Amino acid sequence: MIDDTLKRRLNYCTTLPSLPAVAVKIIEMANDPDADIRTVCEYISLDPVLAAKLLRTANTPLYKSRRVATNIRQAVSILGTHTVLVIALSFTLANSLMMTSLSNSSSAFDSNIFWRRSITSALASRALGEKLELNFLDDLFLAGLVQEIGILAYWVIMPEEYGKIFASTPDHDILLEIERKTFGAGHDELGYALLKKWHIPDYIALSCINSHSQPEPQNLGPTLQSCLAVSRYLADYFLYPHEAEKMTTLNKATQDWLGLDPSALIDVIKIMEVGLSAVEELFEMTIHHPCEVTGILAEAKELLMIHDLSRMKDLEDKSQRDGLTGAYNRTYFDETLRREFNLAMQYNLPLTIAIIDLDHFKNVNDTYGHVAGDSLLATVVKTLFDQIRQDDTLSRYGGEEFALILPGTTLTASRNLISRLKDSIAAIAYKFDGGITIKITASIGVAAYYENATHFQEPRDLIKAADYALYAAKHAGRNQIMEWSAS
Ligand code: GH3
Ligand code: MG
Ligand code: MG
Repeated sequence: MIDDTLKRRLNYCTTLPSLPAVAVKIIEMANDPDADIRTVCEYISLDPVLAAKLLRTANTPLYKSRRVATNIRQAVSILGTHTVLVIALSFTLANSLMMTSLSNSSSAFDSNIFWRRSITSALASRALGEKLELNFLDDLFLAGLVQEIGILAYWVIMPEEYGKIFASTPDHDILLEIERKTFGAGHDELGYALLKKWHIPDYIALSCINSHSQPEPQNLGPTLQSCLAVSRYLADYFLYPHEAEKMTTLNKATQDWLGLDPSALIDVIKIMEVGLSAVEELFEMTIHHPCEVTGILAEAKELLMIHDLSRMKDLEDKSQRDGLTGAYNRTYFDETLRREFNLAMQYNLPLTIAIIDLDHFKNVNDTYGHVAGDSLLATVVKTLFDQIRQDDTLSRYGGEEFALILPGTTLTASRNLISRLKDSIAAIAYKFDGGITIKITASIGVAAYYENATHFQEPRDLIKAADYALYAAKHAGRNQIMEWSAS
């Protein structure tokens, strides 16, 4: 419990920042369900620095910025009022508090470490939300950012006394206990009190308290609280990726509280990597040197032990594969395409797909029988698998039709591979019954997202385009490749 002395110190502390007028107004609007766009724009425009940050944010890879915002009005219409308010609040809070921590910092308090951790937690909790396809990513970001604000508050209102305690343990949970014993309240409660004093909406302010306890059973799964609880460990790992025990703790929390398996955790770390530079730029703070970033993912995979991962993958695999050919099945294809399409759209990344249809396959069946046809299908798939990368997904899309997803691949970059695939199918000399050699060719339709982004709103559009190109390839005489283009 926060006692009266502590409350008084918090309320009358002169070194704690009073919020800038814009922030006060933003909080007021965030608490007002009827806040209208015009007023929001007007107030944000009053603070040129904030306005500029907001515009930059709207245009970073964190948002689906296929429309470029050039003024606040557009940013608000692209992002929505709520998102804009929450982002604005993240900046104004971080900004005024960073100033405070700079001007007040005693030598013992490294405010740089504090903010690196806070910003990483914010990025982590947003990335978890993104993987879980939650629709309150910015709330997750803000809650992640302020969840440890109580530590800062302690430092500011009683630097001497708190400094000793803070230095006495590197363990977060022990720190909390000592705070409770010494001051009657932990930084969780103090953080909550501070945010309430500033009238920050309760669901955000509560994050200070919630993120420090283990989620209750009813709060497990994709909730704000469980994401936050995991985000602390995720930030911890992201900042110190070489420490194996941090990964152990993180992996367990992610599985227990969010039900995400190790490969999903790898995806989350990937999402963090993609968003990192945008966040660093916006908060003008370096979290990692660029050359360290690529190492994090590799390290994470290593620590999660690929053996375990691949064993689990084997089990999972069976339900994802087509029994005859071993190519991925339609369900897996649909899921993968949806995920890759969303990533491509959100971060403006290349993505190319190809539909491969065997030519006159009916003739093969009619001439040599279904058994021969079946084996030939399996041979074709094996030939294709031998040539694609691990990140590429080959699936059986229909009877003798296969779909290939090439993430991160532009149209130009795909040409070599796809033409090799076509040639290698034509080169198959399948010996049936040890005697007759069966030959086959394929027609291929290709559609690239990146080069035609404005034409594709959903995964289905991309498939339709590839199908259309395939049809054209058949029409033009088969055994060839056609690329879809807007014209
Ligand atoms: P096109 O060049 O126009 O694609 O001619 P096609 O004969 O390949 O096209 P169509 O779509 O008319 O026929 C596809 C044939 O593929 C029909 C079916 O007998 C055969 N097929 C589909 N699935 C299987 C399978 O699992 N095993 C075997 N053996 N044949 C299959
Ligand atoms: Mg065919
Ligand atoms: Mg067909």
